Amino acid sequence: MTQPDLILTNGRVTTLDRIKPEAEAVAVADGRILAVDRASEIMSQAGPETKVIDLEGRRVIPGLIDSHLHVIRGGLNYNLELRWDGVGSLSDAMNMLKRQVAVTPPPQWVRVAGGFTDQQFAEKRLPTLDEINAIAPDTPVFILHLYDRALLNGAALRAVGYTKDTPEPPGGAIERDSAGNPTGLLLAQPNATILYATLAKGPKLPPEYQLNSTRHFMREMNRLGVTTVIDAGGGFQNYPEDYQVIEKLHADGELTLRIAYNLFTQKPTQELGDFANWVKQVKPGQGDDLYRHNGAGEMLVYSAADFEDFRVERPDMPPSMEGELEPVVRLLAENRWPWRLHATYDETIGRALDVFGSTATCPWPASTGSSITRRRYPTAISTGSRRSAAVSPCSTAWRTRASISSSAMAQRRPNGRRPSRACWKQACRSAPARTRPASRATTPGSPCPGW
Ligand SMILES: [Zn+2]
Repeated sequence: MTQPDLILTNGRVTTLDRIKPEAEAVAVADGRILAVDRASEIMSQAGPETKVIDLEGRRVIPGLIDSHLHVIRGGLNYNLELRWDGVGSLSDAMNMLKRQVAVTPPPQWVRVAGGFTDQQFAEKRLPTLDEINAIAPDTPVFILHLYDRALLNGAALRAVGYTKDTPEPPGGAIERDSAGNPTGLLLAQPNATILYATLAKGPKLPPEYQLNSTRHFMREMNRLGVTTVIDAGGGFQNYPEDYQVIEKLHADGELTLRIAYNLFTQKPTQELGDFANWVKQVKPGQGDDLYRHNGAGEMLVYSAADFEDFRVERPDMPPSMEGELEPVVRLLAENRWPWRLHATYDETIGRALDVFGSTATCPWPASTGSSITRRRYPTAISTGSRRSAAVSPCSTAWRTRASISSSAMAQRRPNGRRPSRACWKQACRSAPARTRPASRATTPGSPCPGW
């Protein structure tokens, strides 16, 4: 029997096994769990080389897998951030800001890049621009609240160069005073590009500091129990240039997270060119257990990406969306690249699914019951799970919608289901029972569910 190289004992182990939900000890060999059991059972497997850690009653959980993070991009800047996560009052938060301003050397900024809301503060409000300016007259301060607004003090406005002549960003707003000068408040309405484009104007860390910063970010993820992530790329995160830090950490054996990374185009209206290049450079699955390529996304084409500021009106995607999305998806499918697409609203997702469907033939040609050849491509939307879906107008929608219902859609509709489209209903009625796809939404041979 393999001897464990590590034993964790005297703990409270959450196994997620219904039959045996709790255990006291875990044995590990070659990075894999050998056994989970009572401490006496596990300790009997220990050999002379086994490292034993006494947990002294601490809880052990399986590592968390986060299906959507921006670790590769976020790591480059993590050490530059002041974090307000969990801070209970605005006055405490502002004291932290004050202390950070006092130790921040020019030309660096103080940045609070999300991770909090005004509702966590006892005062139930954000700081005012006057309060921030009083604390930091000379040091640029940038505070990002969700993806709905950013607060910049006067020094930050000077640093980014926004003036009365700066045009309004598409889908966003630069609040101005009566003379037309920016006040420092930037708003997503609902396009958040103005927020993170402004953040991207700040100074960067030198490469060796980016290595250190990324290690700190991964360490923070580990502290929260996260061991594996799917990295969703991100705006201003270019491939391959901005992946050198993560790749060096990987090469040096310093990754403390398993990362599957998706490639995110940075070129509005030129997206196809990016993907056409990348399919020649890297293959899905390429890499190893710690760092692996995972396909395209979460940006496929800019015209198909909506924004999730639910406090303002839903954006309508432009009419050009389908025409721009289709060739990209076709290229990805032909190259067997899985993809994920950032989409928030039912209306946007429906249009995207119709495009995915239009790249192949419906597998239910009349109700003949003839045998059907389905081509399978891995696809994913939003949830990050890789699923194998038959690409067709009907079955793709059918299967992928089942996966959507587990994410944002489930929160918006009590039963997690979405209204059917004509295609599904027709397919459902006319398809011979044996050719209907099995899914959570229906079972072969059953009538159409009443969506
Ligand atoms: Zn994202």
